[in-house]
Amino acid sequence: MNPDILRTLSYGMYAIGVKGEERPTACIVNTVMQVTAEPMVIAVSVNHDNYTNQRIKETGEFAVSVLSENTSGTVIGALGFSSGRNADKLANVNYKVLREGEPVLREDICCWFLCRVTGSAETLTHTVFLAEVIAGSDEYKGTPMTYDYYHKVIKGKAPKNAPTYRKEEAAQDSSPDERYICTICGYVYDDPQHPFEELPEDWVCPICSAPKSMFKIKG
Ligand code: FE
Repeated sequence: MNPDILRTLSYGMYAIGVKGEERPTACIVNTVMQVTAEPMVIAVSVNHDNYTNQRIKETGEFAVSVLSENTSGTVIGALGFSSGRNADKLANVNYKVLREGEPVLREDICCWFLCRVTGSAETLTHTVFLAEVIAGSDEYKGTPMTYDYYHKVIKGKAPKNAPTYRKEEAAQDSSPDERYICTICGYVYDDPQHPFEELPEDWVCPICSAPKSMFKIKG
């Protein structure tokens, strides 16, 4: 079978907010789906290695912020490519903390909702949580960001804990050529109009905000 056929499945982009032991934290997932409307039940898949997974299991709750096409790559980079176990991933992100303790993003999201876990299933690498939606925004706005938009327009990559990450794809990505790749998030700078060498020294990775010095020639 050609594994690429699963690329035809469509996904969105979401920030999952949890109560951390020291501070609220959040991660990015592309796998939130509605299971039933009445009651409002959703499912989300989160990697075992993610601190978010641990905290969902410990608190039984999480908040979902639905990212829009206006959500900046910097926000996705801050939440998607590092762990909230030791670092404050939300340090440079505009967010609010719900009464229940979970953070939701304030800017450029379509809506948010709060979920209480009702069940789960384990796979080799991920937990699929089933959860009831117990509160949420009164309205929604903007265009939800799809995973496809993230890849094609923002040119984001799948971090290794994403359900759709594939090792072979990452290996293909490192085929030799003259383009520069971010060693933090895997973003490839690919703008023939503006050579990488000529970018200003204070230029940063549009996905994870890493400085220019963190880029290396692919290959
Ligand atoms: Fe980066």
